[in-house]
Amino acid sequence: MNKRISLRYVSLLFLLLMYACRDTAQTNSKVILLKPFKGLDPILTGNVYNRIKALYPNSFISLPVEIPNQCYYAPRKRYRADKLISYLHQHTEGDTVTIGLIAQDISTTKGKYYDWGVMGLGYCPGNACIVSTFRLSKNQLMDQFYKVAIHELGHTQGLPHCANKSCFMRDAEGGNTLNEEVDFCVSCKAYLKSKGWKFL
Ligand SMILES: [Zn+2]
Ligand SMILES: [Zn+2]
Repeated sequence: MNKRISLRYVSLLFLLLMYACRDTAQTNSKVILLKPFKGLDPILTGNVYNRIKALYPNSFISLPVEIPNQCYYAPRKRYRADKLISYLHQHTEGDTVTIGLIAQDISTTKGKYYDWGVMGLGYCPGNACIVSTFRLSKNQLMDQFYKVAIHELGHTQGLPHCANKSCFMRDAEGGNTLNEEVDFCVSCKAYLKSKGWKFL
């Protein structure tokens, strides 16, 4: 599928929908695009995609892309999350938010640590974020991958960390608290609903 054509088509469709619905419910023309980097299990990618699409129907997925060489951090043999986000940002058009999915370890600068390994990174707000499977519990990979993905997407939408311990927007504070997170809390859900997300 040609992404440019499909995005143009989607934009056009939503312009028409916005026009049709201008006096009724709030409309949302934003698109979420999942962009897997090569080497990631397509079953994991597919699972995250299906679950995100259920909450945000304007979601699409691209074919796997090469990991850009300039994002590699040789001293630790891993990839810089900030550089991956910058790469994704450069390839993100218009009203789209791109979420990069990667199997390799990723890192960023955190306080006094120049190269700190992370599960994911997303700016708040932003139009790109990155999620890695590398630091997740191997026996709960599918679920944890989704939880990190939805957390980073939440940041891109403007959601900060949440004090509710069972909320997807909880700050992991360097650990893995994913098994204690069950859903977005009521207030994070209300915020996302205002951005066009669908919750039952
Ligand atoms: Zn966070
Ligand atoms: Zn919350």
